[in-house]
Amino acid sequence: MNLIRRILGGAGGAPAAKGPSFGNPDEPAQGALNTTPAALSDPGPQNPALAGQFPSFQNPPPTDVGGMPMFWSSFNIAPKRIQAGGWAREVTAENFPISKAIAAVNMRLGPGGIRELHWHLAAEWGIVTNGACRVTVLDEVGRAYVQDVGQGEIWYFPPGQPHSLQGLGPDGCEFLIVFDDGAASEFNTLLVTDWLAHTPPDVLAQNFGVPAEVFKDIPLHDLWIFQGEEPGPLAADQAAVAEGGAPPNPFTFSLGGSKPVRENGSGSIRLADSTTFKVSTSIAAALLSLKPGAMRGMHWHPNADEWQYWIKGEGRMTVFNAGPRAQTADFKAGDVGYVPKGQGHYIQNTGATDLQFLAIFKAPVYQEVGLSEWLRHTPPALVAQHLNIDPAEIAKFPQDHIGIQPG
Ligand code: MN
Ligand code: MN
Repeated sequence: MNLIRRILGGAGGAPAAKGPSFGNPDEPAQGALNTTPAALSDPGPQNPALAGQFPSFQNPPPTDVGGMPMFWSSFNIAPKRIQAGGWAREVTAENFPISKAIAAVNMRLGPGGIRELHWHLAAEWGIVTNGACRVTVLDEVGRAYVQDVGQGEIWYFPPGQPHSLQGLGPDGCEFLIVFDDGAASEFNTLLVTDWLAHTPPDVLAQNFGVPAEVFKDIPLHDLWIFQGEEPGPLAADQAAVAEGGAPPNPFTFSLGGSKPVRENGSGSIRLADSTTFKVSTSIAAALLSLKPGAMRGMHWHPNADEWQYWIKGEGRMTVFNAGPRAQTADFKAGDVGYVPKGQGHYIQNTGATDLQFLAIFKAPVYQEVGLSEWLRHTPPALVAQHLNIDPAEIAKFPQDHIGIQPG
């Protein structure tokens, strides 16, 4: 008797309802096929709209076992902070405790909307998902960088380097920001207006070499996000800040426009880390597209936790850890997923449309180990003795690095 037979309802017509649990016979049998319909029913309070988002929580695959820290969250459940010019909402370790490595912000800036000049201790990585915006940043030796970024383009601002963002016409922009610190918050950054408002005017006068009266109209409360005028031509803004010299490497990069590292009939994977996007020394990113029914093959990451932003479509992911523990969750657009370093996972497109999601790692380079790749690159007799599988079948396993199946 094997797992596949049990899931399919038993071999040779035998009912599967009383089958032992797979792989851990010493544990209580877990899964719907080990119980009775009466015990399986769920008569209590129901919120079908919410519960319906999570079929794998309501009826887990029989291979799921044990419990795990919650690895699903969503911007859809994050309150928006709305101001003139735009809004933002965030998912951080405070409301998503597993996410120790990464905090994230979803922000909208209308045309001319400005995210105030500011800085913070975490590095910031961003990707435009709609529209276009202008970014400014100053590096640690005083070289300025101004650039416009559109859909699929990314930026990286090193820790402490001051920057701003502004929505461009006609539609403004929407983007995702990640910080390389789960405790970081977009609602608590060092703002230029706050510092000026909390410095004695004579000190401002001495610092800037102008009379104190120059500062009589500065805002006394910070702006954070505010409605501004749309900026002029990019070249003019670039020329206006060119005096300090140009940074050696750009702070922006086209992830969406880069050559995929893997592309086949099932989808594509694009990568941006410090090997291609040199300034991004603490964040590696993968942008994945999967066709309906396709799967990002079973793998893990040896060097970092994986933080996910589900952009389009829907899918499911099972995370595997020692114990054994395995848990499956469903994801839709706007959701966030998290896989701690080293824990096995796959992602399947369970919807009728293309699935697109972003995977973020707090690491200078992208690394992964593929299960199929590993078993293909291990002596076949050794693998065969572990799994009771004919070496001729093992020879058919895909050996791609960073695979999408079917390949
Ligand atoms: Mn920032
Ligand atoms: Mn992964």
